[in-house]
Amino acid sequence: MIKRNTGFSNLTAGYLFPEVARRRREYAASHPEAKIISLGIGNTTEPLSKYIADAMAEYAKNLATPEGYSGYGDEQGNSALRARIAEVFYKGMAEPSEIFISDGAKCDIARIQTLFGSKVKVAVQDPAYPVYVDGSVVTGAAGKNNGKGYKGITYLPCTPENDFFPDLSKIKKNTLIYFCSPNNPTGAAATKEQLKTLVDFANKKGCIIIYDAAYFAFIRDPSLPKTIFEIPGAKTCAIEVNSFSKPAGFTGVRLGWSVVPNELKFADGSSVNRDWNRVMTTLFNGASNIVQAGGIACLDEHGLKDMTEQVDYYLENGRLISSVLKGENFKKAGVEVYFTGNGPYVWAKFPGKKSWEVFDLILDRCHVVTTPGSGFGPAGESFIRFSSFGHRADIEEACSRLSKLDL
Ligand SMILES: *Cc1c(COP(=O)(O)O)cnc(C)c1O
Repeated sequence: MIKRNTGFSNLTAGYLFPEVARRRREYAASHPEAKIISLGIGNTTEPLSKYIADAMAEYAKNLATPEGYSGYGDEQGNSALRARIAEVFYKGMAEPSEIFISDGAKCDIARIQTLFGSKVKVAVQDPAYPVYVDGSVVTGAAGKNNGKGYKGITYLPCTPENDFFPDLSKIKKNTLIYFCSPNNPTGAAATKEQLKTLVDFANKKGCIIIYDAAYFAFIRDPSLPKTIFEIPGAKTCAIEVNSFSKPAGFTGVRLGWSVVPNELKFADGSSVNRDWNRVMTTLFNGASNIVQAGGIACLDEHGLKDMTEQVDYYLENGRLISSVLKGENFKKAGVEVYFTGNGPYVWAKFPGKKSWEVFDLILDRCHVVTTPGSGFGPAGESFIRFSSFGHRADIEEACSRLSKLDL
C-alpha cells in the first residue's frame, strides 16, 4: 500500500472552520428553536453588482457564438485584465508581465508553497490566516506540532502590546515571511513605516515576503499603503497575492492575482518570476474566461464604484459590531475591542477566558456564531473574531442580542 503523505499526518486537529461548523450544527440539532446568526466565517453575503454580473453573463452567452467562442487562454491571464490591474491598482509600481491572474489568493498561496518547496524556513504572523501554516505543513516545510506550534515555523506574535506588528528579530535569514495586511483575523493595517521596517529587514536578511493584500479594498485611511510595492525596495523581496473575493463578492465566482516582480531572485540569481510563470503554466491552466470578463468589468469606473459601495456596506457592519462590543456589559468584563475601520474584522480580547469557551458562551446565549482567535495561532488565545460579512438586518439582530449578553 502507498504510505500517507506525512504532511497530512502532521496536521493536528481539524481545520478551524470545519470545527466551527461542527459546533454550530451540533448546537442547532439540540436547539432547533434557535435562530442562529453567523458572524463567523469570512464569507461575503451581499449580491454581486448587477453591472459586473451582466458582464459575465454577456461573455458567457457570446461563448455560444462562433465569434465569441474561445478555449484555453493564456495561463498567466487575459492580457487586458493584467494591464488593467497594473494601471488601476499599481499605477506604475508593477507591470503586466509581473501580474498573474488566478482562481484566488488561497490557491495562489498553495502554489507558492510548491514554488519554494519543503526545505524553506517559514515565519508567520501569529495569529494568521490558516493556509500559511497548514499549507506549509502539507508541503513538508513544517513538521509536527508540539502543542506550542509546528516545528520549523517561526511564530511572530501580533498583539495589542506590540501594536499588532511583530518583533522581526526572531526571524532567521533566508526565511519566507507571510504577512497579511489589513490582517485577518486582527484587522490591523500596517503603516508605511512598519512595512518599510519589514522590507528593509527582508532585503538585509535574504528573506522573501508573501504579502497577502486580500483586504486592501477596505483601507479607508489614505495614509495607509494598499500594496507592499508602495514601499521602496519591495521589488527585490516581496510577492503580493490578492483577490477579487472580498471587494467584489467573488468568493464563489473565484478570481485573484499575484504580483511577482522581475527583480526578485533566488539565491542562485535565477528569476522567481520565471519559475512562477512555470508553476502557473504547468500546474494551473488559467482562470475562467467568463470570470476574467467580470474582473475587467470590476475595474472600469462603474465596477470600481460598485465595489467601493459593497465594501462600505461591510465596513458599516463592522462599526455596528465594534460599538456594541464596547457596551457596558462587555466593558464590565474587561473586554478589549480592536476595530480599525480599515478591515472587515473586529478583534476582541476576553481576558481570563479561553477563545473556545467564549465561542460556546456566545453561541449558547446569543445564538451567534463567531470565530475563536486561538484557531488562528497561539497568540490568538482569549480573542474572538467577529466578521462584518452579513446582511444588515442579521448584523443588527446579532448586535441587539450581544448588547444583552451578561458575561
Ligand atoms: C479571504 C481571504 C483570501 C481570499 O482568498 P481567495 O482564495 O481569493 O478567495 C486571502 N487571504 C486572506 C487572509 C483571506 O481572508
